[in-house]
Amino acid sequence: MSNEIISNLKCVKCNKEFNKRELNLINGKRYCSQCAIEFANEFVKTESDLLNERAKETSEVRSKKWKTLIICLFVICMGINAVLLPRMIKSLKGNKVIRKGAIKTDVKTDKCIKNLWQISRMIQEDSLSEMALVCPVSKKPYIVQQKDENTIVFCPNPNRHGKRGYRAIRVSRFSPIPEVLE
Ligand SMILES: [Zn+2]
Ligand SMILES: [Zn+2]
Repeated sequence: MSNEIISNLKCVKCNKEFNKRELNLINGKRYCSQCAIEFANEFVKTESDLLNERAKETSEVRSKKWKTLIICLFVICMGINAVLLPRMIKSLKGNKVIRKGAIKTDVKTDKCIKNLWQISRMIQEDSLSEMALVCPVSKKPYIVQQKDENTIVFCPNPNRHGKRGYRAIRVSRFSPIPEVLE
């Protein structure tokens, strides 16, 4: 009985006759066991391919998003650099009072320090001989001292700067940032 072949049980795929125990109904169609397994394998394969494709797409979208984000950050950084860099260079050139030390200075001292920034550039460019700057407090010329390889330029009257005066306001070849010494 169990191995009995019923003639009306034919596989829709391979057309083989098979016994009742091997009947597999897929979408209302009769398949033999072998074809049913193949069908199932195909189905699983297709499903997993679809899943893989979807995963691939997702990761592609993700990496695209990352790329966009990185490009945006890069552009922002470049923008910041474009804005900040000239300012930094400007401030280094002495359009803004930057100097060594933490002393709070007054307007005239700041002006004197600005002059020293210009002088610092002249020292570096070896054009100090053309320098005709004077200290804004006394209108006296700056004092140039040559010490071995070093060129030092002093404010002629540091004692007249600020409320109590300073020991020295100077800049040199080896120390190109103006210094205010208390
Ligand atoms: Zn079959
Ligand atoms: Zn001065």
